[in-house]
Amino acid sequence: MVTALALKEENSLSKIGIIDFDMHYGDGTDTIIDHLGIDWIIHYSAGDKYSMPTQAKEFLAAIRDITHMMTGCDLVLYQAGADPHVDDPLGGFLTTEQLRTRDRMVFEMLSKMKIPVAWNLAGGYQEPLRKVLDIHDNTMDACLEIYG
Ligand SMILES: [Zn+2]
Repeated sequence: MVTALALKEENSLSKIGIIDFDMHYGDGTDTIIDHLGIDWIIHYSAGDKYSMPTQAKEFLAAIRDITHMMTGCDLVLYQAGADPHVDDPLGGFLTTEQLRTRDRMVFEMLSKMKIPVAWNLAGGYQEPLRKVLDIHDNTMDACLEIYG
């Protein structure tokens, strides 16, 4: 939200998308959007819709529609959470390969739509930390695969 507000204040962008694929719902983002009466942000958070491994395929199938929701955005901020991993103590519905697919699909779709994306690492509470870093590395690999 800080990034979106700063870009809007600079008048450099008129419509910004936020795709939040962290395990936990982006209620803070929603609260700020509501409190400030913002109508120039499209916010999608998966955290309140998907949590069970049985929903993994449904989630991956929805990514196409979720990215299409961002049509007309000048930029998408993508929160590539690592805590939806099945082994995460606070998460638990996507395998490593499914997280890879998630990230690849987001980058691929936004690239086809010609919408720039800025993504951030988030979440991830597995021990040892290397397990979380491996997921983040996979997000970077997916990004390079599409944009590199
Ligand atoms: Zn989280």
